[in-house]
Amino acid sequence: MAKSCEIIAVGTELLLGEITNTDGAYIARALAKIGIHAFYQTTVGDNPARLAEVLERAASRADIIITTGGLGPTYDDLTKETIAKVFGKKLVRDAESLEHIRVFFEKRHRTMTPNNEKQADMPEGATIFRNLWGTAPACAFESGKNTVVMLPGPPDECYPMTDTYVIPYLMRYSDGVLTSRYIRVYGLGESAVENILRDKMIHAENPTLAPYAKSGSVLLRITAKTPDRESGMALCEPMVQEVLEILGDNAYEESAGGIAEFVSNLCRKKGKTMAFAESCTGGLVSKLITDLPGSSDVYLGGVCSYANSVKSGVLGIDPSLIEEKGAVSSEVAVKMAEGVRALIGADIGLGITGIAGPGGGSEEKPVGLVYVSVADEKHTVTKKFEFGNLRRSRERIRGDAAGSALDMIRKILMEEE
Ligand code: ATP
Ligand code: MG
Repeated sequence: MAKSCEIIAVGTELLLGEITNTDGAYIARALAKIGIHAFYQTTVGDNPARLAEVLERAASRADIIITTGGLGPTYDDLTKETIAKVFGKKLVRDAESLEHIRVFFEKRHRTMTPNNEKQADMPEGATIFRNLWGTAPACAFESGKNTVVMLPGPPDECYPMTDTYVIPYLMRYSDGVLTSRYIRVYGLGESAVENILRDKMIHAENPTLAPYAKSGSVLLRITAKTPDRESGMALCEPMVQEVLEILGDNAYEESAGGIAEFVSNLCRKKGKTMAFAESCTGGLVSKLITDLPGSSDVYLGGVCSYANSVKSGVLGIDPSLIEEKGAVSSEVAVKMAEGVRALIGADIGLGITGIAGPGGGSEEKPVGLVYVSVADEKHTVTKKFEFGNLRRSRERIRGDAAGSALDMIRKILMEEE
C-alpha cells in the first residue's frame, strides 16, 4: 500500500495571497511520479501555535509530512523549532552545515550574523540535505509512523532540493513509479476529443487515459504505474499508438517542452530553418522557440511587424493591399509569411496577423480574429482562427495564436514524411 503525504506550506504571505504556493504544486507533482499520494495540502501562517496544530493533525492523517518555508534565519522562521517541539526532537548544531553556511557568506563577502548560525541547528538524528542553492539546509527524520521532511521556501532552492534529495529519500516508500506520456491535439475541442475516446478514458486502468484542456488545444495524458520508468514507457506505448491512429494528423506525441520543442526538433531532423513575421503576437512565437537552448540552428530570426509601415517597408507588402484588405486579412498574412521567408532566407516563413484585443475589434473583424500563414518552397498554407469567443484575455488570444501557428508549421513539416 502506497504511503500518503501531507504537504504543509508555511508563510503568512501565502495566506495573504501575496505569493502563490508553487512549492506545494511542485512537490505534489514530484511525489505523484513515484506513486506517493498527497491527500492533503495545508497552508498556514508564521504562527507557532497554528503551525503546531496543523502538524499534529498531519501526523495523525498522513504517513509523510513535507513542510516548505520558514527555515530561514529571521524571527518569523519557526518551522524547525515548532517541528522539533511537536515531534519531541532536540535541536543540535550541525558542524558541517555551519561550515557550509560560513563558506556561503565568505564567498559572497557578506558577514554572517548569529541568527544565520541558527540555520545549522537540526533535529537530532535527522538526515541532513546540504543546500547547494542557498543557506538553509533541509532535512528528513523518522518519528513513529511518520516521516517528516523540511524544505526551504524559495522555489529556486525548494525545487532542486526536492529532486536531488527528497524524492530519492522517499523512494523507499514508493510501490511503483508513475510514467506519463502526452498527446497534444490541435483543431478539436475537449468535448469532441472526449467523445471519440470516451470508452477508453473510462475503462483503461493501467495505463490510464485522461484529458487536460489547455489553451487552444487539448492535452491527453497516458499514465502507467510500473516498477520503473522504462517499463512504464513500454506499457504506455500501445495506447499512445492507438490514440495517435484514431486522431490522425490532428495529434502528435509531445514531450515536456511542448509544441515549440517538437517543432524545433522536427526542423533539426529535417535540416530546415524558420523565420517569423509577427504582428499581434509581438514576437511570442520567436520567444517560444528561442526559449529552447540551441535553437539558433533552426531559427534564423524574425520581424516584429506591428505597424503597417513595417509590414510594407521591411517585408515589402504593397501598401495598397493593406489598404484594400486590411492589416488583419489572409492576404496580408500570406505576404508576411512569404516576405519574411524571402527577406531572411529561411526554408519556412510564418506570418501572423490578428486582433488581440481588448479594443480594436469590429463586427466584421472581431477581437480574437487571427490569420496565420506558413510558406515553404512548395506552397503557402493559410488559416483563419477565431479565438475571441468566450471573452478571452489578450494574453490567452496571443498564446492560442502562437500555439496554433507552431502547430501549422508542425503539419507542414510532417506532411513531407
Ligand atoms: P529564507 O532563507 O529565504 O528565509 P525560508 O525557508 O525561511 O527561506 P520563507 O521565509 O518562508 O522561506 O520564504 C522565503 C521566500 O520564498 C518567500 O518570500 C517566497 O518568495 C518564497 N516562498 C516561500 N514559500 C513558498 C511557497 N510555498 N511557494 C512558492 N514560493 C515560496
Ligand atoms: Mg524566511
